[in-house]
Amino acid sequence: MFASGKPKYQRIILKVSGEALAGAQGYGIDAEMMANIAQQVAEVAELGVQTAIVVGGGNIWRGVAASARGMDRATADYVGMLATVMNSLSLQDFLEKLGVHTRVQTSVEMRQVAEPYIRRRAIRHLEKGRVVIFAGGTGNPYFSTDTTAALRAAEIEAEVILMAKNGVDGVYSADPQKNPEAIKYDELEFMDVLNQGLGVMDSTATSLCMDNNIPLLVFALGESGNICRAVMGEPIGTMVRRMKS
Ligand code: UDP
Repeated sequence: MFASGKPKYQRIILKVSGEALAGAQGYGIDAEMMANIAQQVAEVAELGVQTAIVVGGGNIWRGVAASARGMDRATADYVGMLATVMNSLSLQDFLEKLGVHTRVQTSVEMRQVAEPYIRRRAIRHLEKGRVVIFAGGTGNPYFSTDTTAALRAAEIEAEVILMAKNGVDGVYSADPQKNPEAIKYDELEFMDVLNQGLGVMDSTATSLCMDNNIPLLVFALGESGNICRAVMGEPIGTMVRRMKS
């Protein structure tokens, strides 16, 4: 149903948070959600769109939370990076079961389970029609997988970051769960996200997107077909861009 027309983007980064992988259960990996995501990615790959995915780890571990409980922050963050590898390998499995050729590249080397991150090799995989999953975050503590998405998008020259959210369909002026007056934005500038402290992504990731002019589309993951809609340029979610000068 989506095959007609030309996709708006030829190369994308899809950011899937760990929270999204947990689905309704809130922790770990929800098989139904994983199958849903894999199916949607398969549809996008079928369109010939070069697809790279950055997977979070918050469904298993968050460095900041562990550090608040007294753990050394850098160590806690390394555990978080390992959590992203677990999620990435799981997503690879779901994708390959659908016949989608997938490579996991990790910034924290573990040769037995995944390729190390090599930018030019990742691009080659994409050109060959393989989906590439970037695991291990940036490989540095004190960063996030949102920042990883921004960094990898800049590196591989992705045209957009598709930020698939769980349970929310865009960026709102306030938390729509708590404030019925909250309005949803169709478009925003990165500077508004920073100035208004909107919870789109952390400020490091937001700045990286802004400085490198990488647009960000925030939309709901749960509705099947939404990743395809985003790729086809249908007006869903909230588009965050750099200020027009
Ligand atoms: N992390 C890190 N450096 C990175 C990416 C991730 O230290 O470049 C750690 C950090 O502890 C973080 C955890 O990995 O809390 C999980 O990543 P994130 O919170 O970004 O996942 P998401 O919120 O997308 O599920």
